[in-house]
Amino acid sequence: MTDARIRHGLGADIERGLERDDLIVITGAGGFIAGSLVRYFHDLGYTRIRAIDRKPLPEWYQRVPGVECLSMDLSHEVNAIRAVEGATEVYNLAADMGGMGFIERFRVMCLRSILINTNVIEAAYRAGVKRYFFSSSACAYNTDLQRTPDALALKESDAYPAMAERGYGWEKLVSEMFCQEYWAERGLETHIARFHNIYGPNGTWFGGREKAPAAMCRKVIEAQDTGDLRIEIWGDGTQARSFCYIDDCLYGIDRIMHTDALIATPINLGSSELVSIDALVSIVEDIAGVRLERTYDPGAPKGVAGRNSDNTFIRNVLGWEPGTPLRDGMAATYAWIADQYAARKAGRQVVEG
Ligand code: NAD
Repeated sequence: MTDARIRHGLGADIERGLERDDLIVITGAGGFIAGSLVRYFHDLGYTRIRAIDRKPLPEWYQRVPGVECLSMDLSHEVNAIRAVEGATEVYNLAADMGGMGFIERFRVMCLRSILINTNVIEAAYRAGVKRYFFSSSACAYNTDLQRTPDALALKESDAYPAMAERGYGWEKLVSEMFCQEYWAERGLETHIARFHNIYGPNGTWFGGREKAPAAMCRKVIEAQDTGDLRIEIWGDGTQARSFCYIDDCLYGIDRIMHTDALIATPINLGSSELVSIDALVSIVEDIAGVRLERTYDPGAPKGVAGRNSDNTFIRNVLGWEPGTPLRDGMAATYAWIADQYAARKAGRQVVEG
């Protein structure tokens, strides 16, 4: 299903300096973004891809034929060494992660992801890997700058002075620093993208780790299915965010990894189309052709008041920025979650949290 949704030929224009049979290692590949990245490189014709995740193989969101899939915990050094053996490029996207409900509640788990990057980057350096990618997050930004819904868009320098999101954001910020110092001190070429709310088909859509776009789609589908035409929104609905479609994220990762001007330089990878959570719900209602009665839970996890991606830097360096309109991306996401919902109801195995 995903194959058709990933734009045909996406990434065909990029010059990578890679041979078709160079080994590409992708971690976190049982999850949403890395799983899609495996398919992306596979569809571009790369013949040696090693995908790694802690989850048992039957629980991976996507499995791509012909890809070496390993189930192992990368917070252990010995596994990290095995993971990157022979690799030309390493994309490290493995992390314990989820939406606000998860990262506000499980800070220790989020912080412990530091072990993954610490071990994988050292192993990559020792293995002589050519390029190393790390998936950072907008949660690395100073939270003091995000106290109102109309907060200014965040530019890369806004991470310092540091006051990151407790737990998850600090782990990302420190791991970014590892990437920068491995380049400065040891010459390992590293690339760092700060993702802003990535969404799309094949992501978590229930179970507690799902993020707002998938959660809203599921809630609207559930309301229609059960006939209980109400929806509960976390916070007061005014929290503002931008959401970046998965195809833009994949293309952006590829461009960022293969741009020399971006070595060891964190860069935003997000959309600059800002919406409130209330507006996001309205988009989903439009797609579904339904109107629901809204209730608000001010006590629920809601994160910072406002956050957007300032795309000045990425436009300047790459001459490109994520551009899929939210409405289009949400329509594809909604259709996929509706399929998943129906499949689950029919007793078939589906993507879980
Ligand atoms: P995801 O939860 O779907 O995927 C992460 C995967 O990492 C999971 O499958 C998990 O099992 C795996 N993992 C966790 N601990 C591991 C370990 N010790 N060893 C091996 N695998 C392990 O999340 P995602 O949305 O695909 O996110 C991918 C990356 O992008 C993460 O680093 C995340 O922090 C970052 N990110 C994502 C977003 C977003 O909006 N989705 C935003 C900012 C940053």
